[in-house]
Amino acid sequence: MKKPENKKNTYTINMTTDAKGDGSVTCPKCNTSISPDDETEENYEIISTEIHNDELAELVLKCGKCNNTIKLTGFQ
Ligand SMILES: [Zn+2]
Repeated sequence: MKKPENKKNTYTINMTTDAKGDGSVTCPKCNTSISPDDETEENYEIISTEIHNDELAELVLKCGKCNNTIKLTGFQ
């Protein structure tokens, strides 16, 4: 069965289990390295953030290379 064309894939990355030691992640689609600490935002664009009890709970990014949507969860 074919997926609807207008629905983009969103990849979810768990920061606790999937992030590298320096807190960066890799775009599952194009392998671009994305670091949430990179304030230049050259490789990504922040779509939305979700804060729970003053802690970052969820961060939705758009990859700057392939425009893929990446949802980061599992912050500690
Ligand atoms: Zn990408």
